[in-house]
Amino acid sequence: MVLSPLASPSLPLFDRIAYIGIGLINSSVARVVQRDRLAAATVACARSAVNRAAALHLGLVDVVTSDVTEAVTGADLIMLGTPVSAYESLARMMAPHLSPGAIITDVGSVKETVIRSVTPHLPDHVHFVPGHPIAGTEHSGPEAGLTELFVGRWTILTPPAGTNPAAIERVRALWESCGARVNFMNPAHHDRVLAITSHLPHLIAYTIVGTATDLEDDMQHEVIKYSASGFRDFTRIAASDPVMWRDIFLNNKEAVLESLQRFTEDLTALQRAIRWGQGDKLEDLFTRTQAIRRSIIEAQQA
Ligand code: NAP
Repeated sequence: MVLSPLASPSLPLFDRIAYIGIGLINSSVARVVQRDRLAAATVACARSAVNRAAALHLGLVDVVTSDVTEAVTGADLIMLGTPVSAYESLARMMAPHLSPGAIITDVGSVKETVIRSVTPHLPDHVHFVPGHPIAGTEHSGPEAGLTELFVGRWTILTPPAGTNPAAIERVRALWESCGARVNFMNPAHHDRVLAITSHLPHLIAYTIVGTATDLEDDMQHEVIKYSASGFRDFTRIAASDPVMWRDIFLNNKEAVLESLQRFTEDLTALQRAIRWGQGDKLEDLFTRTQAIRRSIIEAQQA
């Protein structure tokens, strides 16, 4: 267990944490919070009765509700963990019920549009510390969460200039208690980095699997049968939640389109190399990519 200097078993980090959405990410945080008693009280808000029942049954929180305003009342930390398209209306609904000094944070995979859609609705007496844990799986829902999900992974915080430093430190302490390493970025830079490291790879996986789906029946059967030859890894990525990924592409449009443009140019260059039998070009690229893989392993992010 990694305990932040601010947390100790006898001194919770927060009085009441309200998780808005209790899917893969928020339920993973909730598992650590309950295990290490990082909050005196916890509540989860989800629309579906199935998710609320699961959150209680799994012991993720003390109380569940479908009412956002009830969830945030009296909370000193509110953690948004829904698809990002829901953030604006959630912020609008919760705003009149937020306690003075409350911290609002989130786990959304894009940051510029999140900040633009949430900030205008929040009262001056609260603190908004946007965040994004660079960890996840293709699974969704409260059952999918894992206590170890964030261990050794990065969480990026993108607080706007002027954000209360004590609020930032408390959010950092929570992530460090989950075993994460915390870094800070400007939101636009975050979105450009994630466009290439996460969003473009997902788009490519969705495309490849989509192409295979459109093949004639007999070919499709063979693709599934022999999927272990490479296709299988793409299908894992392409099994990620459709709503969450729809929102990511629509909310990080410019950065994704920019990386896609560069990718398309590089793909065309590869096409040409294959057509003209330029083996040296192919070998040169594949050698460089091998080195990237080694660096990722050395950075313990494999
Ligand atoms: P998830 O497992 O699909 O859970 C989403 C949760 O939000 C559920 O509890 C769902 O419950 C609730 N929800 C969905 N739509 C809602 C709406 N319109 N209004 C209110 N509640 C709603 O999602 P997740 O994978 O944890 O992702 C949550 C956030 O984390 C996303 O913004 C995503 O970008 C980000 N993220 C995901 C990953 C990943 O690998 N999955 C990694 C890093 C960051 P009900 O349907 O019952 O309301």
